[in-house]
Amino acid sequence: MTKLETKLLLALESIVGYDTYRTEYDGRMYEICHSCGDQDGNHSDSCEYVQAKALIAEAKAIRFAAAGWVQWGGGKCPVAKGVRVDVLHRNGDESVSKPAGHKVFRNWGHTNNPLDIVAYRLAGDQQ
Ligand SMILES: [Zn+2]
Repeated sequence: MTKLETKLLLALESIVGYDTYRTEYDGRMYEICHSCGDQDGNHSDSCEYVQAKALIAEAKAIRFAAAGWVQWGGGKCPVAKGVRVDVLHRNGDESVSKPAGHKVFRNWGHTNNPLDIVAYRLAGDQQ
């Protein structure tokens, strides 16, 4: 990844962290998406923030592959239950050193969910 690509990725990661604004209506606080207008953490499929997060995850998957991560296309969990792994989710978030049967690691089979696992590696303390 070039320096420019790294800078663009960092800028995009910073921007997608501010996908909502808070507003009060009729005595209740709402979190509204700047792009799609959905509320309280929900987004439409065409939401620009969702698309940006998918691009971040795609860029990370390429970078991670170069660093020895295994790109994951979906399927049955590839490691024994309890083996600690680091994973990259479709939304660009990482989960670090959790046992394979952990609740955040249920999306080995892809369902087009933000938590689908798109890359993984054995956790550092086992390599
Ligand atoms: Zn949205």
